[in-house]
Amino acid sequence: MSNVYQTVVRQFDRAADRMGLDASIRKILAEPMNEVVIHFPVKMDDGRIEMFSGYRVQHNDVLGPFKGGLRFHPSVDIDEVRALATWMTWKSAIVDIPFGGAKGGIQCDPILYSDQELEHITRRFAFSLGANIGPEYDIPAPDVNTNAQTMAWILDTYLSTLPPGERHRSVHVVTGKPVEAGGSLGRDKATGQGVVFCIERWAQDRTVDLSKATYFVQGFGNVGSWTAKLLKPFGASLVAVEDHTGAIANADGIDPEELAAYVEETCGIAGFPKAAPIDHESFLRTKADMFIPAALENQLTAETAPWLDARVKVVAEGANGPTDLDGDRILGEKGIDLLPDILCNAGGVVVSYFEWLQNKRSEFWDLEEVDGKLRKRIMGGYDRVREAADEYDVNWRTAAYIVALKRLARLYKRRGIFP
Ligand code: GLU
Repeated sequence: MSNVYQTVVRQFDRAADRMGLDASIRKILAEPMNEVVIHFPVKMDDGRIEMFSGYRVQHNDVLGPFKGGLRFHPSVDIDEVRALATWMTWKSAIVDIPFGGAKGGIQCDPILYSDQELEHITRRFAFSLGANIGPEYDIPAPDVNTNAQTMAWILDTYLSTLPPGERHRSVHVVTGKPVEAGGSLGRDKATGQGVVFCIERWAQDRTVDLSKATYFVQGFGNVGSWTAKLLKPFGASLVAVEDHTGAIANADGIDPEELAAYVEETCGIAGFPKAAPIDHESFLRTKADMFIPAALENQLTAETAPWLDARVKVVAEGANGPTDLDGDRILGEKGIDLLPDILCNAGGVVVSYFEWLQNKRSEFWDLEEVDGKLRKRIMGGYDRVREAADEYDVNWRTAAYIVALKRLARLYKRRGIFP
């Protein structure tokens, strides 16, 4: 069992023990419902055939259709996808949307392929998934190294396999689509927007003045860059950033818009002229008020969590699983607040739900409506998690699990187990 899946299992056990979760429901939720593994061939630009491994794990669908992203990354394997699918079930339950949890991906490094090859890889995977996805069954979305274009290819491939009369009513088979292909306004920035709503609420709670706050971000893809751009109007200052190309710092502040424009051109933050390069340890030792990990799993561990400076007041998890169990313990000992992933980064799946609803009803909402409804969902989730943390006297990660598990347990109790 990989590190990251072990983390999920232990997080789950901890919350289930603390809340006294019913033993049968505990057994059911401890394992994913379905696991699809597909090995498929793709013809490369030079005519060679390469084999790829694709995954879709469907953890639970008792609250609604399976829902979750697809990522393209060398680290994708069955255990990672299991962990990510399980987190999706908790995430939707916390923000009270009618979805279950799933996740998938392809084990590959997209940098190695041309746009045409990526299109072929994506389309062939979508075709191979076949009836394992569907608008009322399992609905993929973007994740690490996938985006609206990826979703458009999946949409087109999926619809092409249907009889003509069924195509228009199946557009909600994926979310995170380009706006012109049935996507929702505000979906692109949604995860970052959710992180910022969470931080806003936390700052109110802790009477932190965001206009004087400093922060550092790990990852400057969709989540990291949108979080930084949306924090700018609050006056918070971005003082260090790290991504797969390196880390940079500037105590006077880095402009998120300028950095995003630079990354758009160069595909990474390395060499950004208005900041100095630093190493990984110095990055994690940045003296700032807030840390926003928005990249991959297992970044704050027994080794690295002690590096966080005494000034850090909160870790707001834009990524899924950036802190392992030792990391959690160390944050607690240091008195650092935690906005856990399954609450903090739920904005993406919330606006996916709005996109799915708009498609089903043939509606198109304006941005104010999307943002207003997202704010309510995130703030509602935040309040429920805070209450559970007080009631059970646990850290916010365990509290978030308790909120999710209670919702699932209530439903299982009503429905019972077939036969
Ligand atoms: N990949 C995102 C996540 O981890 C969004 C999932 C979705 O919109 O279905 O939450």
